[in-house]
Amino acid sequence: MERVNLDGKEIKPLTICLISGGGFVGSHLCEKLMADTSHKAIVVDISSEKINHLLDHSSPWRDRIEFHKIKIKNDSNSLLETLIKASDLTINLSAICTPYMSRPLARIKSYFLDAILNFPVVKYCTESNKRLIHFSTCGVYENTERSFLPEYQVIRKDVCTFSFGMEQEPNLLKEDASPSICDPIGKHRWSYACAKQMMERLIYAEDAEHGLDFTIVIPFNWIGPEMDFIPGVDRLTGGVPRVLACFSNNLLRGEPLKVDCEKSQRSFCYIKDAIEAILLMIENPERANGQIFDVGNPDNEVTVKQFAEMMIEVYAKVGGKSAPGSSTIDVSSEILYGEGYDDIDQRIPDMTIISKQLGWKPTTSLQDLLEITLSYQHQTYSQSIKK
Ligand code: NAD
Repeated sequence: MERVNLDGKEIKPLTICLISGGGFVGSHLCEKLMADTSHKAIVVDISSEKINHLLDHSSPWRDRIEFHKIKIKNDSNSLLETLIKASDLTINLSAICTPYMSRPLARIKSYFLDAILNFPVVKYCTESNKRLIHFSTCGVYENTERSFLPEYQVIRKDVCTFSFGMEQEPNLLKEDASPSICDPIGKHRWSYACAKQMMERLIYAEDAEHGLDFTIVIPFNWIGPEMDFIPGVDRLTGGVPRVLACFSNNLLRGEPLKVDCEKSQRSFCYIKDAIEAILLMIENPERANGQIFDVGNPDNEVTVKQFAEMMIEVYAKVGGKSAPGSSTIDVSSEILYGEGYDDIDQRIPDMTIISKQLGWKPTTSLQDLLEITLSYQHQTYSQSIKK
């Protein structure tokens, strides 16, 4: 049956180059592209572990997906150029996402090198007149205005006139209005956000001068099955994963959940809801080009401590019994992630632009997404952890 986009136009099959498409977001996007569309995927990554089931010869989609094991570095540019030029659309998902702060110099170099390595991607897209969907991070907003207000003004639904004289929730992060407020250099966690922000500015300038067709995606805490890794099971070493995998690891091992910033609030979005938004961007270029989209779920906002407590409760349900010793303990961020780590109090995505342009709204509650995710974690890992 013919598929049509939001404007009733027929959706033609596209060839999509997914740079670093073998990770958490990339693997869910590949699954969606294979199962629900007739687009073709050219995936570039260091590892294909999370998409091997799609690449398998018995997979019904085997002829629509190909994998190129490439570590993106300076000498891989010519191959990247060929792949980008052979595609209708490039989606750039590359980044080192784990928040671990050891070896700060190496990490800062890698963030900026990653950013620099992304420069040619932008250039090849412009030169060949190809669309680019680029993944940024909600970290680009860095600190919120609220963190600079006196304590007594910090009320969840309070309004302030701090932001360009407009009345708004001080922690609502708007793509076209919120400032980026950077912390001092000693907090080198922010080098990741600075590198991502530089890329956004480069892409914006490339459009202004050379007419690049771009869309920038700002993910706000997308979570779900296959996110990151369980230390000691998926990888023998490799630092600390993001919060969902950290807490899952604690639950699977019957350890207390280590909470570093109990008052920080986050809006968690189910990965499959977020992937629906990306598909809308892919198939509605006229509505998505030139836009920056916050993609998150403001209805799923909890403190990190509440998130940990919900995970304990849900794991008891899906795992059949509560993990012995499941509780939370407070640990400093520096102990958990290393010196130089820093984080913000609250991040709320503003949904105005994405709902106006694409009519997208996330639908999965935090309770439901945790049930799905922790069932997956339990089924996938509990036996190996026991061994
Ligand atoms: P991920 O870590 O699961 O995926 C990143 C992928 O990049 C991995 O598969 C990794 O192998 C690959 N990669 C890293 N260095 C590479 C290199 N030199 N050459 C080739 N491949 C390389 O992360 P994710 O959650 O899938 O994130 C995807 C994008 O979304 C990233 O740009 C990230 O910054 C952004 N993002 C995601 C979230 C979220 O909530 N998941 C939040 C903010 C930003």
